[in-house]
This record gives sequence, structure tokens and C-alpha cells, in this order.
Amino acid sequence: MTAPLTIAIDGPSGSGKSSVAKAVARRLGIGYLDTGAMYRALTWWCLERGLDLADHDAVAQAARDFPLAMGTDPADPTVTVDGTDVGAAIRTTEVSSAVSAVATNQGVRPVLQQLQRDLIARVAEETGGVVAEGRDITTVVAPDARVRVLLTASEEARLRRRSTELHGSADAAAVEATRDQVLRRDRDDSTVSRFTEAAEGVSLVDTSDLGFDESVEAVLDVVAASTVDEG
Ligand code: C5P
Repeated sequence: MTAPLTIAIDGPSGSGKSSVAKAVARRLGIGYLDTGAMYRALTWWCLERGLDLADHDAVAQAARDFPLAMGTDPADPTVTVDGTDVGAAIRTTEVSSAVSAVATNQGVRPVLQQLQRDLIARVAEETGGVVAEGRDITTVVAPDARVRVLLTASEEARLRRRSTELHGSADAAAVEATRDQVLRRDRDDSTVSRFTEAAEGVSLVDTSDLGFDESVEAVLDVVAASTVDEG
């Protein structure tokens, strides 16, 4: 029996990692784990319960009690908290602006990282593999993954993509409104995870000049190359 195909993908906001990771998982017929959605869901849960995000102990306690269920089918990934589908609620500006405060809480990270390792192992066992994406998957959560990729793109390309996604346009005003969602968040997140340069053994895929399909193919090429390497 061959070992499960675990693929770790990290990258900054707007690098395209979520859509590319999902497409790669579909093409390979394996599971998909969006770890950013877990930090977002915890942020939603804390705000919902009126917690002060600056109260590190209370937020860390919420992480330990967190009634989270992740659906890992790449054709229909879901996020459920205590029976409530929060798929849309975790993408609001309110959550996007607040999530770094939760993700930089050092009492939270090990709790979610362990949940992620457990999910990766379970999904890989069930479907023969998993694509897990986030900020610290190649370095901390799954440094022993069979394939590790850092997906990056120029600041300009990332701002343009997020702006089109959020505002339906990449004109000057829309790009300005997106700045906080991309640059400030990445700056805060960079204080706890390293996702702007590839760690040793991690393949770098720069999508600045690639369309979506080309980005998917580029990652599939890395997967094919590492599978050949292993013989
Ligand atoms: O990928 P996404 O933008 O949805 O991630 C939301 C937030 O979750 C990031 O801005 C970061 O604060 C946090 N995150 C993290 N570690 C991960 C994935 C996401 O800290 N592995």
C-alpha cells in the first residue's frame, strides 16, 4: 500500500492558494483542508460570544472549547461551528480584519495546529491524500508532508486579485480599500509564521504572471516531480 499523498501549500493573502489548493485536490481526487478557515471560524465564534480579542487567556480557552467541524470535500468544503454553517459569515470584512488578532495569540496556535494535524491524518487515511493550505503548513503543521509548496505572487498581483474578488473591480479606489485586507494582515501574520520565503525543501511557485489554470498545472508539476523523485 502506498503512503497517503500529503500536500502542504502556504502563501500570503491573494497568492491564489485557496482556489489553487482546492483545484489540485479535485484533480487528484483527495481531500482539502483550509486552515485559514479554522482561524476565521474561531474569530467568528469569539466575536459571537462577545469576547475581547485582546484577552489572550479567554481567546485561548475558547480555542480549547471550540465546537468546530470541517468538511474536507474540495468540491464542497464546509465550516460548521456548534451546528451553524459559518461558510459565509467567516468571509465578512469584520472577521477578515480581526482574524490576525486571534491567529497571533500564542495560546491559540498550538491548539489549532494540533487539530489540523489530526484532520490531515484522518482525511489522508480516508481519501488517500490531502491538500492542506495556510501560512505555516510547510514549516510547522506538516513539515514532513510528501509535497511542500510556497505559492507567492507580487504585491501588485495580490492586491489586484483580492480587489477584484472583494469589490468586483481593480480600480484605484477598490485596490485602496483592499490594502488592509492584504498587506496589514500579512504583516501581522508574519510575526508568527514565515510564509514570504520558501523554507528549505519547499518548492516556490510564483503565480504573478500565471493564470488560474497555469497555477494549478504548476503545482501539479511539483507534485509529479516529487512523486518521481521518490521512485
Ligand atoms: O487564508 P486566509 O486568508 O483565509 O487566512 C485567514 C487568517 O488565518 C490569516 O490572515 C492568518 O491570520 C490566519 N492563518 C494562520 N495560519 C494558517 C492559516 C491562516 O495564522 N495556517
